[in-house]
Formats: sequence, C-alpha cells, structure tokens
Amino acid sequence: MTTISSRLHLVDERIQAACLATDRPASGVRLLAVSKTFGLDAVIEAVAAGQRAFGENYIAEGVEKILALRRWQAGEAARGAKAIAGLEWHCIGPIQSNKTRPVAEHFDWVQSVDRLKIAQRLSEQRPPELAPLQVCLQVNIDGGANKSGVAPEAVQALAEEVARLPRLVLRGLMSIPEPAIDFAAACAVHTSAKALFDQINASGALAVPMDTLSMGMTEDLEAAIHAGSTMVRVGRAVFGSR
Ligand SMILES: *Cc1c(COP(=O)(O)O)cnc(C)c1O
Repeated sequence: MTTISSRLHLVDERIQAACLATDRPASGVRLLAVSKTFGLDAVIEAVAAGQRAFGENYIAEGVEKILALRRWQAGEAARGAKAIAGLEWHCIGPIQSNKTRPVAEHFDWVQSVDRLKIAQRLSEQRPPELAPLQVCLQVNIDGGANKSGVAPEAVQALAEEVARLPRLVLRGLMSIPEPAIDFAAACAVHTSAKALFDQINASGALAVPMDTLSMGMTEDLEAAIHAGSTMVRVGRAVFGSR
C-alpha cells in the first residue's frame, strides 16, 4: 500500500467510527480529499486507491490539476487501461467575480458560493454541454469578522435565489468554523450549521431539499459527523502536512 492509500484507509476508519458512535450509516458521509498544494502524483495515488472526489482551494492550481489528470487518463486509456468513472472536482476556495469562468468551465461542484452575483455568473458561464454545476453556499457559521461566507440569517434568501438559477443545482451548505478548543465546542458550532440546514429544508421554500452539509476537516471530522455532516473535506490526514 502506498502512504496515501493507507492514510485514506485510516480516514475511512475514522469516518466509520464516528458514524457508528452517532448511530449514522457510514454511507451517509462522503469524503472529499483536499488536494490543494499537492501535485498530480498525489492525486493519481489517491485515485488508484479508489478516491474519486477532490477539493481545490486555488482556482488556477485546481484547473491545472484537472486538465493534467485528464491528460493522464487519456494516456492511460491509449495504453488500454479501463476508464475511471466518477471523478469529481470541488472548488472550495474563495472566488472573485472575475474568476468565475474557469470555475464554471472546469469544476463539477462549487462549495464556496457566498453571494448572488457569483452564483449568477457561474450559472451564465456554465457551458451548455456540461451537467449543471453542483453548488453549496458557504456559511460564516461562527461569525468571524474577516471570514468569507454568508451570514446565517441571510442564507435562506440566498438559497432561494440560487435554487432558481438555471445552470446550477443547489446541493447544500458548507462551513469552515474556527478551530474549537475541544470536542464539545466543535460539536456546538457544527450543530448550529446543521440546525440552519434543517430549518431551510423544513421551510418548504426550496422545490428540492438540500442533501449536502459539508463540514469537518482533519482536526474536527468526528465532531462534524456527530453534528450531522454529510461530507467531510480532509486534506492533511490524506496527503500529509502542507
Ligand atoms: C484546506 C481546507 C480543508 C482541509 O483541511 P485539512 O485541515 O488539511 O484537513 C478543508 N476545507 C477547506 C475549505 C480548506 O481550505
């Protein structure tokens, strides 16, 4: 086993243990492998180990890796290798409005939408031959003053607007809380995100309820799963320290 495949295995065990501890089915939590700052070789190792969903923070770096992996796949196919199905790239970093086009053209998901203007541009710029872009709204759940993310009280209105955009599919919410001092504190902040998620779904304002609550990273994935996360975004525990 390579280092990355054994690390993926350990992360998988952590996810399973956390699900078991809260009586949730392990199939209810997906792993997004955050490959930012790591090269194509690391992604290929993770793909070989069965990982399919990858997260990138920096748009130019992400697009470069997406295209490089595609070239690698084409080379493999030419050598007779079986095609790899189900690869997914998630943009999880800040997006300036002049940088929406490469995101719309290359990523499958965007988890860091925090204002309508960005969503509108992504919808307009999503190429017609691609599937709609899958979107999560980034919520500033702990109210950090310098943090990106929409304020909790403004999430519902933004969700309703984004859900109406033709080339986007609103999938859920994403949050990146500050590191917590302990498990209980981490659970408390993640639980407030879960409550917001449930409240918006229960309002009935969305024609299709959201199904994705993206929260939890290397340090706090257990607390996030305890609170109801459906997708953990893990970088260092998969690829090593940055
Ligand atoms: C870097 C990053 C992660 C992964 O963090 P780790 O601590 O390496 O697991 C998850 N989400 C976002 C938005 C990130 O920027």
